[in-house]
Amino acid sequence: MLKQSVREIAPFTWCISEFGLVNAFAAAGNERAAVIDTCCGYGNIREIAEKITSRPLIVILTHKHPDHAGGIFHFRDCPVYMNGLDKDLVFPGMGFDNAFRKMYLDTRGPLRCPDVMKDVYSLIPESEPDMTFSFTHAEDGMRIDLGGRVLEVIHTPGHTDGSISLLDEDNRILFSGDTVNKSIILMRQKNNSPVLIERFHNTLEKIWSHEKAFDHLAIGHDGDLIDKGIVHDYLCLSSGLLDGSITGHYEEKGFRKGDVARLGKAELWYQCDC
Ligand SMILES: [Zn+2]
Repeated sequence: MLKQSVREIAPFTWCISEFGLVNAFAAAGNERAAVIDTCCGYGNIREIAEKITSRPLIVILTHKHPDHAGGIFHFRDCPVYMNGLDKDLVFPGMGFDNAFRKMYLDTRGPLRCPDVMKDVYSLIPESEPDMTFSFTHAEDGMRIDLGGRVLEVIHTPGHTDGSISLLDEDNRILFSGDTVNKSIILMRQKNNSPVLIERFHNTLEKIWSHEKAFDHLAIGHDGDLIDKGIVHDYLCLSSGLLDGSITGHYEEKGFRKGDVARLGKAELWYQCDC
């Protein structure tokens, strides 16, 4: 049967790839294990997590997009942490339902998992799962103690208002979700306002102020662990866009459509229509 792949990326730390579409991570302490994001909900990600670790599970959502929170229905009895600013997040065309799971596979599958797409369709839940969940507000500076291992919440708005990153100082990893990955999407703003670029830039400065505490980012898509240097590339890129020394151009690539600019390893869709 088709299974999510699991890779150990650090001691007691694993990446669970949902068929190359999106990543979740499991980080185990002495007392509890955190499942960081829950992917789209194709198949049962909880079963995978419980095979990796026998510790009781908690869930931490880096943000509430349905490709990261879509498997939350498997964790109904677990404590869930999420930043409250994402509570009422509505993302055009991305509902919390099976129509989204199908659309996501239709649009991302050809790029990210062409060989197994057909099989992944068969893992869409037969009926609509109950996607309501309650959560504890993960505020900036909160320290989530897993027992001998702490994940520090850093509020990193930009991709969504309530996006958070999690700093794991012992393992020198920042779990950054979609806040920083290899290709970042910021939605198009009315009149091409740079408000999201400014917010994103401030977030990058905040992340970079912690750079002595981590070496790698654990990211939400397209690979799992990448060098922190990409944060600096994004910093230069966003400041160039803000001061006018860098201008991007309109492009269409896969499911992405909009104005994009690149620098070093950074790719920022800063007025994205997708
Ligand atoms: Zn996202």
